[in-house]
Amino acid sequence: VTVLFQLGEMATATESLDESTFEILGGELGYKVQVVSPEDEDKELLEGFGLDLEQELEDEDESDLEIRPPVVTVVGHVDHGKTKLLDAIRQTNVVAGEAGGITQHIGAYQVWTEHDGIERAITFIDTPGHEAFTAMRARGAQVSDIAILVVAADDGIMPQTVEALNHMQAANVPIVVAVNKVDKEGANPARVRQQLTEFGLVAEEFGGDTMFVDVSALQGKGIPELLDAVLLTADAGLDLRANPNKDARGIAIEAKLDRGRGAVATVLIQSGTLHVGDAIVAGTAYGRVRAMHDENGDAVEEAQPSRPVQVQGLSTVPRAGDTFLVTEEDRTARQIAEKREAVERNAQLAKARKRISLEDFTRA
Ligand code: GDP
Ligand code: MG
Repeated sequence: VTVLFQLGEMATATESLDESTFEILGGELGYKVQVVSPEDEDKELLEGFGLDLEQELEDEDESDLEIRPPVVTVVGHVDHGKTKLLDAIRQTNVVAGEAGGITQHIGAYQVWTEHDGIERAITFIDTPGHEAFTAMRARGAQVSDIAILVVAADDGIMPQTVEALNHMQAANVPIVVAVNKVDKEGANPARVRQQLTEFGLVAEEFGGDTMFVDVSALQGKGIPELLDAVLLTADAGLDLRANPNKDARGIAIEAKLDRGRGAVATVLIQSGTLHVGDAIVAGTAYGRVRAMHDENGDAVEEAQPSRPVQVQGLSTVPRAGDTFLVTEEDRTARQIAEKREAVERNAQLAKARKRISLEDFTRA
């Protein structure tokens, strides 16, 4: 208070001040003030449990890495056919013995497609609405390797087309363009190609390196070609590999409270393998994996990188975008969850007071 007074700032110990005032005050007192983001704070929290996930990835040996399927999101302007396209893709599963396509909605699914004579999987994130995505993006979570940008051929590019492609380009996510509704009268696929050149998406046939595929989600036309384009894009420079032989790490895609089954969360494995019986923590939820199911409602014993599975056994419902990880001991998962909860409570209190008070400052 005295130093602030000398600086010409009248403040009491419980008063809230902005970040820059604290930076100046710190300087006066001989300290460098660092404003910590929630992500930094969580990283530190995990390090307290001996978990440094970035280091873990860096330390991985090349020989531990195995090819994983690409994770794809479908983006585009409202009504251009995202939902219809995801439905059409869902129907194209080529895996023998799986008639009728995928039945359960779990927020993500894998389809198998034949590419150069080999059956390969692609993971689609299929979140209804885009709240989950927005939440994930806001929290800096990077889930998708490739984006399919859907543009209706009769409509051309629209504001949300541009918004979506800006997001993906900012995040360095390669884009495959699905020119949809080519069955419609007035469809002009060439115009879509023309319009998108302005945004740096130049079709291969115009000498660029973006793949454009004409589709009709309604008639299910062009879907195999679209999946092919996704795999070609994945193979052209994306290093999609992960170590399956370690404790699983990943991200919660969506979650809900089910009457009979309790908290159920769809998680996407990003590295490692998740097993039934594993101790996990997802955000502030923790527990043991009691059961796992895939998009067909079939029980799954273990899930490898890029596989989405629905998990039962968590104490509460995690949020979309929460990271999850497996811990050696049940108690570690619980302790991490509890610490995160305490951090969140504090952050909420601070937020309620709008700004940081001098009291918080001296306590830190
Ligand atoms: P979203 O808002 O991007 O998810 O768009 P929807 O998938 O809900 O589709 C919007 C409307 O366009 C629906 O009435 C669809 O039936 C229709 N639609 C989607 N794809 C096609 C297509 O390939 N051809 C035609 N004719 N209509 C389509
Ligand atoms: Mg939709």
